[in-house]
Amino acid sequence: MHDDGSYDEPPVTGPGGRSSAADPVSRETDQQGWSRGAEFRDPAPRPADPDPDPVVRQDVPSGGGLHPVSGVPANLPPGAGGPQPTSGVPANLPPLREAPESAARPANVADPRPVPVQRNAAPPARFEPLPASGVAQQSAPQAVPGSDAVAADTPPVDGYELDANPSTYVSRETPTREEDDPPLAMEAMRAVHILNPSGEVTMPRPERTRVMCVANQKGGVGKTTTTVNLAVALALHGNRVLVVDLDPQGNASTGLNVPHHTGVPDVYDCLIDSVPLEEVAQAVEGIPNLWCVPATIDLAGAEIELVSVVARESRLARAIAAYPGQFDYVFIDCPPSLGLLTVNALVAAQEVLIPIQCEYYALEGLNQLINNINLVRQHLNPKLEVSTILLTMYDRRTRLADAVEQDVRNHFGDKVLQAVIPRNVRVSEAPSYGQSVMTYDPGSRGATSYFEAAQEIADRGAKEPVSRNA
Ligand code: ADP
Ligand code: MG
Repeated sequence: MHDDGSYDEPPVTGPGGRSSAADPVSRETDQQGWSRGAEFRDPAPRPADPDPDPVVRQDVPSGGGLHPVSGVPANLPPGAGGPQPTSGVPANLPPLREAPESAARPANVADPRPVPVQRNAAPPARFEPLPASGVAQQSAPQAVPGSDAVAADTPPVDGYELDANPSTYVSRETPTREEDDPPLAMEAMRAVHILNPSGEVTMPRPERTRVMCVANQKGGVGKTTTTVNLAVALALHGNRVLVVDLDPQGNASTGLNVPHHTGVPDVYDCLIDSVPLEEVAQAVEGIPNLWCVPATIDLAGAEIELVSVVARESRLARAIAAYPGQFDYVFIDCPPSLGLLTVNALVAAQEVLIPIQCEYYALEGLNQLINNINLVRQHLNPKLEVSTILLTMYDRRTRLADAVEQDVRNHFGDKVLQAVIPRNVRVSEAPSYGQSVMTYDPGSRGATSYFEAAQEIADRGAKEPVSRNA
């Protein structure tokens, strides 16, 4: 990493290698990859197929494959009449890009199209190589409700001959490790472990309240998602947790399904009008031991109004200190800025948790945050330390994610949690249901990763109670 927080782009590698600029995520279907990486055998016309043009059918007889390089059907008679297809796709194959995946397809019918090639990607855990010559005989696996592995794999489908080399198939999701994509029974076990209905699974409680400020002045790096999911994970496993939503957007309040429309008493009242926190904190429905101090849009004015208030930097610290509830954890979800609201959070906290998105520019601006933390430590809060770094939205398919992880680990050492949060669609869906991913889809990789992160944070707190408050 360079001094200014940037880092080199990963080099372009051989065939299938990617430059970060050219293809940072590779979610899209590369049309060339279709003709390069897989051979099609035209299936016998299915009853559902619309009757193709008889001329086309004559030109592209049933059973013809595509030339592996040119993409031209192998048994196309030379000089056959009619315009030649330029894409090399037989006329009665479904169009490549017309509909988004999952649209226009029943949930339990897998996409018959092979996924484009990423030659240096690991095969998905459940891929079974086909016999080199054979047509795949397996039927498409059933979609598993609630599983984020649905449609992740590329099942061989009757009637299509696929490339027998498993390394040419990749998952569309972002597997973190192969064991993270387990069978249904495993997933159910993990879900029970995470929801913990019997209360058997506990995470160690700290000796004193740990006030953690979740900060990063970049927006969209996962501060709110991290706050909500860690708080729920710890609360589900025997800890008393308070979430203070300090972002005027009120996303943490939304994620915990706590009312935060105009007129609801909120953190603004505590900061500006010195209302005690216990009067505005609301119990989070469905999660015992979890409370939330919501933020309404009123908070947007607080940055300016705080300027003229006495002890403007320590308003939140006083409010938290005066709260009689014996919390194990207080998480403060900061806005994406380094203004007075964030300063209030830094003065109130003993620990800073910085979520870092595994993307380009992730480290830019981090120096500024660290400088601010140092200033607050020198002048306002000597107990403050950056205790935890969490890597979020990790996409294993990109070398960039690896590069960012290595840089962050080299730079911050053991402050970086071993648990890494993958980019996972369940995580992003959960807030629209007013839930954390822990309750929305407890068997998903997102939930498991946040559970692991919470466990690590709890274990570290139990081991290092003295240095934490030193
Ligand atoms: P911040 O609070 O730093 O602005 P958010 O937590 O609101 O960031 O996250 C920004 C967006 O990214 C949200 O839409 C969220 O749902 C999504 N998101 C966060 N973490 C993940 C993840 N691990 N996988 C997929 N989407 C994520
Ligand atoms: Mg946020």
